[in-house]
Amino acid sequence: MGFEDWNLEFLCNMFLFFRSKTKEEVNTTSPGYEEQEQKTPKAGYILLFFMFVTALFFGWRALDDLRDVPSRPESLSHCAQEFLTTKWEDIGRYQYLNYPVYELAYPTKESRLVDFKPQAEPPCIYSVYETRYDIPVRMERHRSYNRELQDVEIKLGRMDTDIAELDRAYDMALQEKMANVGGRIYSITELYQKKEDAKLQRSEFETRRDELRNNLLKDVDENLRMKYRELMLEYRVAWRWYEFKLFLLEMIFVFPFFWFVFRMYKRLLAKNSPYTIIFTALVAVASVLTLRILIIWFWSLFLARIIQTLWNFIQNFALLKSLVFFGGMFLVITIFGGSVYWLQKRIFEPKRVALRRMRQKQCPNCQTSLDLAESFCPNCGRKLKEKCSICNNERWLDFSTCGYCGSKK
Ligand SMILES: [Zn+2]
Ligand SMILES: [Zn+2]
Repeated sequence: MGFEDWNLEFLCNMFLFFRSKTKEEVNTTSPGYEEQEQKTPKAGYILLFFMFVTALFFGWRALDDLRDVPSRPESLSHCAQEFLTTKWEDIGRYQYLNYPVYELAYPTKESRLVDFKPQAEPPCIYSVYETRYDIPVRMERHRSYNRELQDVEIKLGRMDTDIAELDRAYDMALQEKMANVGGRIYSITELYQKKEDAKLQRSEFETRRDELRNNLLKDVDENLRMKYRELMLEYRVAWRWYEFKLFLLEMIFVFPFFWFVFRMYKRLLAKNSPYTIIFTALVAVASVLTLRILIIWFWSLFLARIIQTLWNFIQNFALLKSLVFFGGMFLVITIFGGSVYWLQKRIFEPKRVALRRMRQKQCPNCQTSLDLAESFCPNCGRKLKEKCSICNNERWLDFSTCGYCGSKK
C-alpha cells in the first residue's frame, strides 16, 4: 500500500470515522466481519473521540509551555511601538507566540499603581537592543519634544479663549464709548494693548509649535525610525534563532511519539487487527501536533513571505485575485468531493459488491437467487463458476478459495 493510499484512508478515518477494509482484505475476509459492519461499538468511538480531544489538549498545552524553555529575545519597550515597521511575517509570529514585539504600555501592575499620576506617561523600559542602538537618548528627546508640543497646544487653546474674551471686552468698550455711557468699565487703550500683547504671544507660541512639529520632532522621529529599522534586522535574527531552538525542542518531544504510533498503526493495519482504530486516533493526535510545529516554523521561515509576495503580485491584477478565490472553490470541491468519491468507490467496488452478493446467495450482477443458477446466471447470463486449476472441480468465480480443494487464487 502506497503512502497516498494510507493518506486517503487516514483522512477518511479521521473525518468520516468510517473504517473500510483495505484492498488486500477483499479476497481474504475474516470470519464474522461483514463489509459494512462496524467493528467498533459506539461506546468505543465515543471513548476514542474523548481520547483524541484530551490527548490533543494535553499535547497542545505541553507544546505551549515549551515556549518558555529556550531563552527568548528580550522584548522591546512599549515606546518602540510607534516607530516599528512591522512586516507581514512578524504579525503571525508574535500573535502565535502570544508575545508582542513591544511590551504593553504598563509593563507591570505595581509600576502602574506606584507611578500613577494623572496624565503621566509610563516610563520606557529599554531592552538591551535599544540601548545598543542608542535609542534611549533619542527616545527621551522625542518624549520631551512631544510633551512640550502638547503643552504648547494646550496653551494655544487657552490663549484663543483669552483673545476671544478680550475681543468681546474691547468691542464692549467701543460701544460704551459710542453710547457715551458714564463710569467706563473698560479702558479702551488698556484693552487694546492687552489684546495686541496676547496676539503677539500667541504667534510666538505658534512659531514654537510649528518648529516642534515640522522640524524638531520630525527629525528625531525620522532618526528613531531609522534606528529601529536597523535594530529590527538584528532583532528578527535573534527571534529566528529562538524559533529554531523551539522547533528542535518541540520535534524532540513530538516526533518519536509520531513515529511510534505510525509504525504501530501500519503494523496493526497489515494484520487487520481490530485494535487498529486506537492507533488511528493516536496517529491523528500525533499528526495534528506535528503539523502545528511544522506550519508555525515554516510560517516564520518562508511561508509568510511567500504568501505576502504572491498576494502583492496577485493584487495587481483584479482578474487573478478573483481567480484565486475561484481556485479555492475548486480546491474545496476536489478535497471533499474526492474524499466522498473515494469512499463510495471503496464501498461499491465491483469486487466487493460481488462478494457481498455472493455471500447472500445472489448473482453478483443482477441479484437473482443463486439457488436457481448453475455455472451461469439464468437471468443475466453472467459466468458464476470456473474450473479449478488444481482439482478440476467447478468452483465459484468470486470467492478466493476453491470450495473443493481449498486452494487460493
Ligand atoms: Zn444475473
Ligand atoms: Zn479446487
